[in-house]
Amino acid sequence: MDLKFDLDTYIRRVPDFPKKGIMFYDITSLLVRPEAFQFCIETMVDIYRDKGIEAVAAIEARGFLFAAPFAVRMGIPLLPIRKKGKLPGITLSKKYDLEYAQAEIEVHQEDVPKGRRVLLVDDLIATGGTLAAAIAILNAGEAEVPEVFGIVGLPFLGYDKLLAPTPVTTLINYDSE
Ligand code: AMP
Repeated sequence: MDLKFDLDTYIRRVPDFPKKGIMFYDITSLLVRPEAFQFCIETMVDIYRDKGIEAVAAIEARGFLFAAPFAVRMGIPLLPIRKKGKLPGITLSKKYDLEYAQAEIEVHQEDVPKGRRVLLVDDLIATGGTLAAAIAILNAGEAEVPEVFGIVGLPFLGYDKLLAPTPVTTLINYDSE
């Protein structure tokens, strides 16, 4: 892991998106810079290589962008967690609150690996509400979620408390909006 890599310079800030008062931290500006995208994926591999992670689950849609290359690098299954109504098979689902909306997510029940250690990934962790709902549906499918990972964290919104005791790792945090 290159500790001198300045990820902050690759993240676009968009004030008042998607509504007034929200500072949106956009990771698409990082995806068009291969050195930054590679830094994120290789850092994830460095962090989780020896942690007995057996699958990775990711939140639609930006979570997929980081979890998919990570799954390929690790040689582990990828479980997409999608917004309600997108998955064709039998699902486990849960409603939850976003920082600025309400939603429901679901996962294909038969793809959840029972008794296995599943790393949960999203691009950005705000309130942690999405990830808490994802942990609930993975646990309902009898998978373990030993750790949660996000590229960006907004810890002032209190996700550590909401997700406790599950440890959360992020590559960069912002203190306030
Ligand atoms: P939360 O459930 O509050 O942790 O919300 C996390 C989800 O909403 C993630 O999928 C993020 O991509 C998105 N999100 C929430 N707040 C922001 C923000 N300020 N900037 C960028 N994305 C956000």
